[in-house]
Amino acid sequence: QNILAILGFSSITAVIALIAVGLTQNKPLPENFKYGIVLDAGSSHTSLYIYKWDAEKKNNTGVVYQVEECKVKGPGIAAYSNNIDDLETYLLECMERSKNVIPKSLHSETPVYLGATAGMRLLRMESEQLAHKVLNEVSSILSDYPFDFQAARILTGQEEGAYGWITINYLLGKFIQKSKWFGLISRESNSEKTFGALDLGGASTQITFVPLGHTTESPDNFLQFRLYGQDYIVYTHSFLCYGKDEALRQKLAKDIQVSSNGILQDPCFHLGYEKFVNVTELYKSPCTKRFEKTLPFDQFQINGTGNYQQCAQSILELFNSSYCPYSQCAFNEVFMPPPQGDFGAFSAFYFVMNFLNMTSKEVSYQEKMNEIMEEYCSRTWKEVRTSFPEVNEKFLSAYCFSGTYILSLLLQGYHFTNSSLKNIHFMGKIEGSSAGWTLGYMLNLTNMIPAEKPWTTPLSHS
Ligand code: AMP
Repeated sequence: QNILAILGFSSITAVIALIAVGLTQNKPLPENFKYGIVLDAGSSHTSLYIYKWDAEKKNNTGVVYQVEECKVKGPGIAAYSNNIDDLETYLLECMERSKNVIPKSLHSETPVYLGATAGMRLLRMESEQLAHKVLNEVSSILSDYPFDFQAARILTGQEEGAYGWITINYLLGKFIQKSKWFGLISRESNSEKTFGALDLGGASTQITFVPLGHTTESPDNFLQFRLYGQDYIVYTHSFLCYGKDEALRQKLAKDIQVSSNGILQDPCFHLGYEKFVNVTELYKSPCTKRFEKTLPFDQFQINGTGNYQQCAQSILELFNSSYCPYSQCAFNEVFMPPPQGDFGAFSAFYFVMNFLNMTSKEVSYQEKMNEIMEEYCSRTWKEVRTSFPEVNEKFLSAYCFSGTYILSLLLQGYHFTNSSLKNIHFMGKIEGSSAGWTLGYMLNLTNMIPAEKPWTTPLSHS
């Protein structure tokens, strides 16, 4: 008689009980994860990101992964300022997706943050009341979901730049503490140098990097961080109206000033491309105010002429470099030290350069890039349209402008040189997580990037 029988168990029950004990002993403990949701409310679209990390790690030093990106169908939230009732349906699909991805038991402890960027900064400039209305509505919608809604707010340009910088350096493992004690490379080695961040949206563009040496000029452009026991002094600037959609609006508003017949011969569009533009629509953005003029027509027609050199010349006029109140400037009297070290270029920098096959090292010099752009812009619209039937026409029609704009911004705006251009790495994702401000924002708000070096194992994605 075995002990279970003595205790009143039948032998069959005993076997089942023993199997059950064995199974529980061999089964791994239930997974203990945490989740976070960040909505990037951009000027042209909203994307929802779900992040996941190991809740067991002490001091929140676990590695955070992106497990989902849900693109909200439709334009950016600022476009809903006059029909806020539609925002509920707008957000529904991605929020429902979040309910499916995140285990139900964790819903109530999953934080949700919505950060709006330059599209909402522009709406706020037009009307604070409308911007408030949109944010209030979005907050009310998001708080009705079973998650732990935290806030919906407009990020400053500085925050957008800084969180983008934190995201890429976190994902690239630049904050890892490597100790000489274990025979690993020390922090001073090259691999530990942070990457600068280049972010291009529809309405603004950000540049953020650790410059060489210190300067007391323009303190507004500097941020100081203490991350994992290391101090960083970071330069950042967000150029409002220099995202690629607003830059195009600026260019159109500038060029149409001198047209008397309502036709704009535009070298930034392919030969054979035609499009009508409504003047009131064009002037609605605060970005075109400086070019506003009473025109003898309500709409005008863009006629593409497809010429890269002429397009680049026209774009150059958007960067005012005639005066700099500091020792050095980017453009428009904005202080900027010379770009230093490697850079990660993401969002529209990546989308556009990826389409134009200009992300590889082999083509990252000025001459080759000019050659590619010259050839691409000179193709007819018909040819382009038939070569890329799967590409969204809105994007496709603008790749000649967008590619030319990116090169002008980097070379004439930020003063990258033929040799420093090689240090720009165009990146969409790093280790499966999208490059952008959202991850850095969440890491900060959930206290997952400690100021001091944690005692536990360093975080790493590799
Ligand atoms: P935002 O909505 O402010 O984050 O800006 C995103 C920018 O990226 C906008 O200018 C979009 O038009 C642009 N964009 C998004 N997807 C693509 C794509 N596949 N090709 C080209 N541009 C894109």
